[in-house]
Amino acid sequence: MQFKRIGVLTSGGDAPGMNAAIRSVVRTAIGRGVEEVYGIYSGYKGLIEEDMELLNIRSVSNIISHGGTMLYSARCPEFKTEEGMQKAVDVCKKRGIDGIIAIGGDGTFRGATDLTRRGIPCIGIPATIDNDISSTDYTIGFDTAMNTVVELVDKLRDTCESHARCNVVEVMGKYAGDIALHTGIATGAISIAVRELPYDEDQAIAKIIKARENKKRNFIVIVAEGKENFAEAYAKRIEEKTGIETRFSRLAHVQRGGNPTVRDRVTASLMGKAAVMELLDGKSNLVICERKGVITSMDINKALKIDRMFKDLMTPEEYAELEAEGSLVDMRRHCEERAAAKLNLYRISQEICK
Ligand code: ADP
Repeated sequence: MQFKRIGVLTSGGDAPGMNAAIRSVVRTAIGRGVEEVYGIYSGYKGLIEEDMELLNIRSVSNIISHGGTMLYSARCPEFKTEEGMQKAVDVCKKRGIDGIIAIGGDGTFRGATDLTRRGIPCIGIPATIDNDISSTDYTIGFDTAMNTVVELVDKLRDTCESHARCNVVEVMGKYAGDIALHTGIATGAISIAVRELPYDEDQAIAKIIKARENKKRNFIVIVAEGKENFAEAYAKRIEEKTGIETRFSRLAHVQRGGNPTVRDRVTASLMGKAAVMELLDGKSNLVICERKGVITSMDINKALKIDRMFKDLMTPEEYAELEAEGSLVDMRRHCEERAAAKLNLYRISQEICK
């Protein structure tokens, strides 16, 4: 199929590096003979409302270094309905959009798969600061968010050292404690708590007391937001049980902004190019992934299933289905490798942060 016109959109939670991905998509597509690239505003909302604009090589100049997304992002519940979906398909037909590159998280990919099923080929690019898409080792925005956390926690650590305090810091990451695990190591946190790994509070408090006896003055505890209603109360308990003055800080949305790091700009550029190449090659319903340092792709349905498996959300019927189609072993191995990598980080942090 000849792709004359394609669309690009950013959807769901924003992440630094989305702009670099848009730029790469536009420039690769035009360079490879696509006549027109529509920038669709506010994710699937803009598709339904026909809010879009033609982008060209120059209109994506000067965005590679900017956080946020020049196409804006929004959540669009209407798109999940049959009527909304049909509106989106009609707009694509009216504008002659032959395919769409959707940049976002797993919700965005569910939308992309629905559109593909209705005849509009889509390719997804993973962009979310949480690194919570299990099919890929890396998602655009993760590195920038971590660097923001490290910069802020380093500052907290300075003042904790002066006053011999403890600071419990809540970082983003609902279903994946990746930001917490990495930044915990990078900031020398005495303890890291994430939803997906068991946390021994008594042991952590004993470690703080022992370190204080050993003349340690600053205590950073990193908690992922996925451990709901935990961090603030935990700060109080630490103070009560150790006698160390303990503050609580929630870093919140500051982690979503800022100029993307080199890692995010480069990965976004590579993934943007890969997405266009797959589309022009006649492929659809794929998510671009990074596995063991290589840019590759995976069927979106498989990627969504791996995600459910990794997050322990699969039903026995779904397991039986996967077994019948022969993909269970491969998917299990993928999840086990990922879980082992997390556990390894956790153990290292416990061993060297004293
Ligand atoms: P993210 O892509 O970051 O995971 P969301 O889960 O909010 O963010 O999804 C972004 C958008 O993708 C939603 O607002 C909606 O328009 C679309 N979407 C999410 N889930 C589905 C679904 N099951 N079917 C179709 N579209 C969906």
